[in-house]
Amino acid sequence: MALMTGEQYVESLRKLNTKVYMFGQKIDNWVDHPIIRPSINCVKMTYDLAQDPEHEDLMTATSSLTGNKINRFAHLHQSTDDLRKKVKMQRLLGQKTASCFQRCVGMDAFNSMFSTTYETDKAHGTNYHERFKKYLTYVQDNDLTVDGAMTDPKGDRGKSQGAQTDPDMFVRIVEKRADGIVVRGAKAHQTGSINSHEHLIMPTQAVSEEDKQYAVAFAVPSDAEGLFMIYGRQSCDTRKLEKDADVDLGNKEFGGQEALVVFDDVFVPNDRVFMCEEYDFAGMLVERFAGYHRQSYGGCKVGVGDVLIGAAALAADYNGANKASHIKDKLIEMTHLNETLYCCGIACSAEGYPTDAGNYQIDLLLANVCKQNVTRFPYEIVRLAEDIAGGLMVTMPSQADFRSDLTVPTKSGMTVGQWANKFFVGADGVSTENRMRILRFIENIALGASAVGYRTESMHGAGSPQAQRIMIARQGNIAAKKELAKAIAGIKE
Ligand code: SF4
Ligand code: FE
Repeated sequence: MALMTGEQYVESLRKLNTKVYMFGQKIDNWVDHPIIRPSINCVKMTYDLAQDPEHEDLMTATSSLTGNKINRFAHLHQSTDDLRKKVKMQRLLGQKTASCFQRCVGMDAFNSMFSTTYETDKAHGTNYHERFKKYLTYVQDNDLTVDGAMTDPKGDRGKSQGAQTDPDMFVRIVEKRADGIVVRGAKAHQTGSINSHEHLIMPTQAVSEEDKQYAVAFAVPSDAEGLFMIYGRQSCDTRKLEKDADVDLGNKEFGGQEALVVFDDVFVPNDRVFMCEEYDFAGMLVERFAGYHRQSYGGCKVGVGDVLIGAAALAADYNGANKASHIKDKLIEMTHLNETLYCCGIACSAEGYPTDAGNYQIDLLLANVCKQNVTRFPYEIVRLAEDIAGGLMVTMPSQADFRSDLTVPTKSGMTVGQWANKFFVGADGVSTENRMRILRFIENIALGASAVGYRTESMHGAGSPQAQRIMIARQGNIAAKKELAKAIAGIKE
């Protein structure tokens, strides 16, 4: 099958019997639900742009498995050029959606699973790599979106997998059969899980021998028997349910999506199992997936940052403050921070190297530095955007007030809408509605529904800050640096 169009992607979701719960209810038509639909529109953009000749070079690639033209989101990176194009593609998608477009977790899982299964087979004489190649060929041929799922609920953070009071806090094998395995547990805050055709499950951390039932990797369709999802709510999400919701949403069209994915004894046939108790390779899979996803943030968050910087500049125009030197300087600072993140994404790609299996891995130290910066700089970028926007971003009346024709019984006889428009006007010649729109847009990214895809996700997505610091400590090679100092300082021990 050729590449799907965006419309075909949306229609393909309707054919799945995905079980979705939200606000305590089962949501049958989740594809058209006003709270969920913006996140589907984001993934749809990954299909739409792949059809656009202008973006073909970034959005598509030649499959290393079949030689066919595929969406880059299903590609195994074949060079450092592929790694750089991945980051550029993510920046483009961030610019087009100002949200998390979700499909990257699958791409990062494919690449880490491909190289890890190869090395597992070499050590254990298993057959996971061939199985995985067949599975990925199916994904590429059908242009599927896959939720690459890593994060378990984790329960008591002070205890290992097997020591938890409730053993389901990490996904585990509960039964091994001749034809496959039965798995139980859950994956928490799963990006794009409802919008995905498939789920590719990985362990969340290294596994020891006594906990080997937790060393498991496999793929299941989204509507597998025993699998269901509970939608994660977002700040201001019920605004999407309001009548004629538009201006107050800030970003009407696009949004991110996170959900809890539950496996209540799900059967996985052998041809979809890619790790089954090979605990000594769980850490490798985690490290590689995390590395790729930390590279990803040097693209997606930069693209969203581009839109946010543009919004702050527009807010300054609409407030009539655009000529002030401190505003110009703040926009420079935001740009400097944003491009620094991009430098990290490009650098860890340019320094990539081939794995034993042949696909390309990023430089792990630089990717972790990239994500560590992402835990900080977007906060400063948001702070500066809020500074430029002004307090009205969080105090102004609703769209319904601005459009109200209810007369206020005072001397002037003006309506609520007329009063609101009169007093919230900004620079001469600028419509009050446009001023509202851009302030609501900044609110959406800073504190609203899209904060899940920009602000807080910058902190915790692809691993919380401490996870990167552990990797930086491991990769930083302080011992070699001491030797450098000793040599120049003339120290002989
Ligand atoms: Fe992609 Fe960024 Fe969302 Fe991760 S956070 S899925 S890299 S858009
Ligand atoms: Fe993320």
